[in-house]
Amino acid sequence: MTITIRDVKVIVTQPGKSQLVVVKLLTSEPGLYGLGCATFKQRFHAVRAAIEHHLRPFVIGRNVHNIEQIWQLAMNNGYWRNGPILNNAISGIDQALWDIKGKLAGMPVYQLLGGKVREGAHVYIHCDAPTKEQVVENIRARQAEGYRYFRVQIGIYGGVSSQMVKPHGAPHGAYFDPKAYMRDTLDMLAHVRAELGDEIELLHDVHERLTPIDAVQFAKDVEQFKLFFLEDVLPPEQHAWFANIRQQCATPLAMGELFNNPHEWQPLISNRQIDFVRMHISQMGGLTPARKVAAFADMFGVRTAWHGPSDTSPVGHAVNLHVDMSVPNFGIQEWYRPKQLDYDIFPGMPTVRNGYLYPNDQPGLGVDIDEALAANYPPQDEVIDWTQARLPDGTPVRP
Ligand code: MG
Repeated sequence: MTITIRDVKVIVTQPGKSQLVVVKLLTSEPGLYGLGCATFKQRFHAVRAAIEHHLRPFVIGRNVHNIEQIWQLAMNNGYWRNGPILNNAISGIDQALWDIKGKLAGMPVYQLLGGKVREGAHVYIHCDAPTKEQVVENIRARQAEGYRYFRVQIGIYGGVSSQMVKPHGAPHGAYFDPKAYMRDTLDMLAHVRAELGDEIELLHDVHERLTPIDAVQFAKDVEQFKLFFLEDVLPPEQHAWFANIRQQCATPLAMGELFNNPHEWQPLISNRQIDFVRMHISQMGGLTPARKVAAFADMFGVRTAWHGPSDTSPVGHAVNLHVDMSVPNFGIQEWYRPKQLDYDIFPGMPTVRNGYLYPNDQPGLGVDIDEALAANYPPQDEVIDWTQARLPDGTPVRP
């Protein structure tokens, strides 16, 4: 029997720092619905409008079984494509269709993707702190909870610059000093290795805050600390510099959370210039493109490390995990530490035990939403500060 899409609802909720966008696809089958993550926290109004005004009328009446066909048509229906906002919107529809397909099959989505390659997914956790001593304290606290992979930063992106001299009349902004950031981070990594040894896995996110040649130098300088990976050492606009880094050191490189367009990941993978792809799955258009990228990357020895901080909804985290469970080239999964409220609003969201993330074995994505509870946490409008990055002299740069 043909089951069609009856309606599309957009639910935006903010139980914590992030405005989460979740799509609910209702079907012609009573009681059958799917959930998908369309979260783009900084521009959530635009994603909601794209779904409600453009995609909702486009998908109503279509056969829920035809995920690939709907994805292809939705991506091309607006003619201009591969951009943020529309990719997120399509992702919400796409993931909800996979959820529905799993429910119809009576299987978790990882079964539809080929079944389990592993029983749980290694996660890494953030241990950022203002001082190197506090970074070590944070790692110890997380070790006690069973974690084994730690992202370490001095302060937020760009470090903590107490000695910075700004010009008279310096405007508002998130200031940082790239040279101080590099010195402090190398000092912190040396301290962490000295205190905690070589057995723990360390990761670090440059967040594209260096000039290309400083990025080459920095990747060489951190090589001695044997990171699990160095993330976003270059901005997407400067990806050609990865070749220079590759020629000069064996620091494992992770890249991709800002990517929107296949042209951004294809050359880095096929030229073997990175080691981990870490796209934000809703930002690339959903589960449908993510599973293809995972298969493509596998052919070149590149592993997955999907973006997964708190600006991914619990539905999106479940999608990350279903891919993690089923692809041979899984590397690591970024994880945040959800609050009880997250589990209350999104019953069934994945859980961590002893440093491994586990899905439940419910059909579909395995995550539901308590809409009444979600409505108690409406999204707040805000002007984002941390993306207003500036050099000490006030020059705006990438965040
Ligand atoms: Mg990052």
